[in-house]
Amino acid sequence: MQTNPLAIAQQNLKEACDKLGLPPDVYEILHYPKRVLTVSIPVIMDNGQTKTFIGFRAQHTDVLGPTKGGIRFHPQVTLDETMALSIWMTLKCAVVGLPYGGAKGAVICNPKQMSPSEIERLSRGYIRAISQFIGEKKDIPAPDVYTNSQVMAWMMDEYYKIQGEVNSPGVITGKPLAIGGSLGRETATAQGCVYTIIEAAKRKNINLQEATAVIQGFGNVGANTASLLSSLGVKIIAVNDSTGGVYNPSGLNIHSLLKHKELTSSVGNFPGTIPISNGDLLAIKCDILIPAALENQITKENAEFIKAKIVAEAANGPTTPDADSILAKKGIPVIPDILANSGGVIVSYYEWVQNLMNYYWSLEEVNEKLKIQIIDAFKHIWEISEKHQTNLRIGAYMLALERISTALSLRGWI
Ligand code: NAD
Repeated sequence: MQTNPLAIAQQNLKEACDKLGLPPDVYEILHYPKRVLTVSIPVIMDNGQTKTFIGFRAQHTDVLGPTKGGIRFHPQVTLDETMALSIWMTLKCAVVGLPYGGAKGAVICNPKQMSPSEIERLSRGYIRAISQFIGEKKDIPAPDVYTNSQVMAWMMDEYYKIQGEVNSPGVITGKPLAIGGSLGRETATAQGCVYTIIEAAKRKNINLQEATAVIQGFGNVGANTASLLSSLGVKIIAVNDSTGGVYNPSGLNIHSLLKHKELTSSVGNFPGTIPISNGDLLAIKCDILIPAALENQITKENAEFIKAKIVAEAANGPTTPDADSILAKKGIPVIPDILANSGGVIVSYYEWVQNLMNYYWSLEEVNEKLKIQIIDAFKHIWEISEKHQTNLRIGAYMLALERISTALSLRGWI
C-alpha cells in the first residue's frame, strides 16, 4: 500500500492531469515544489543546553500568486510530507479561487514536551532561518498542527525585527486579533467544512435535523465542527482523540464534552458513554463521517466497513487512494480535503486582504463571504464530477488544475 504522502499527492495530480488531457509539461512543473528549504535551528533550552532542530519550508508554485501554507510542529513530520502538503495547498487555494500558490512549513519537534519559552525561541529561530524567503507578497505562513496564534505572533515579531518593518502584518496569518488577526479565523476550517456538509446533505437527501455524525479527532477542527453541526440539530454519536473514543447512540452533549475535555485533556471517560476503539468508531453506521485528525486514517483495511452516507475530510489526506476507490464503489461521496477544510485558508486570505487594506470586517461579513466562496466551489466540483463521471476528489483536482494550467499558459510557462 502506498502511504508516502508525496507519492499519493503526485499520483492524484497525475490522474487529474491525464483526465483533463493536459500537456505533460503541466504535471512535470507541478509534481515537485519550486523551492524546498531544509534548515537547522539551534535553540537554547531551559536547561542551558543547545538543541538543534530541523525544519522545512516547501514553496510549491507561485504561478497564481504568492505561496501560502501553515507551519506544523510535529515529532514525526518529514520533508516528503511537507512537500505533499505544499502541493495540496496549491490545489486547495486554486479550487476555491484564491490568488495564491501552495506552501508548507514544518519543524521536527515535540511541542508537548517543550516549555512555552522554548517554543518561542524555536518559533523565532525558524523565522530567522527562512526570513529571506517569506514576505506578504512572497510566501505567507499560517498555523497548522501544534502551532497557534501565539506562535504566529512571535513569528511576526521576529520577522519585523529582521526586516526593520513595523507594518506588514500580512506576512503571516492566523495571528491574534489584537495584532491584525481576522474575526472568524479560529473556527473557519470547521465552519467551511459544515457549509460543504450542508450542500452534500441536500444532494444525498439527508435531513440534517435527523442526521447522525461521527468525528475522528477532537482538536480545533473536530471540536468546532462538532459544535457547529450539533447547533444545526445533527446528533453527534461518537468522537475520539489520541487518547481514546466515546460512543452514545442517543447523541453526545457537545457542550458538556468540551468542558470534560478541557478538564481532563481527553474525551475518554465522558459520563454516559461507551468507550470505543478507533477502528470501531470508523465503522459506526451514521450519516456523516468526519475524519478530523491525521493523514492515512481511512485505508484499504477499514474502508470496506465504513457505513456512512457522506465522508467529509476535515483533516488533510485522511483517505488513502486504495480506500478512495473502495468508498467510490460503495457509492459513498467523499468531500475532499482540499475543499472540505479550505475554510481555514479562505479566512487566512481574508485576514491578509484586511491587513493589506488596514481595514477590518465584522464576523458576519467574514462568514458570509466564506459561505459564498466555499459553496460556489462545491457546486462547481459537483458539476465537474458528474460531467466526467469521477469522484469529487478528482473533480476538485480538475477544477484546480484547469485554473493553474490556464495561468501557466497565459504566463508562457508551457
Ligand atoms: P489539533 O491538533 O487541534 O487536533 C488534532 C486532534 O486529533 C486532537 O484531538 C488529537 O488528539 C486527535 N488525534 C491525533 N491522533 C489521533 C488518532 N490517532 N486518532 C484519533 N484522534 C487523533 O489539529 P487541528 O488543527 O484540529 O487539525 C486536524 C486536521 O485538520 C489536520 O489534518 C490538519 O492538517 C487539518 N486542518 C486544520 C486546519 C486548521 O485551521 N486548524 C485547516 C486545514 C486543515
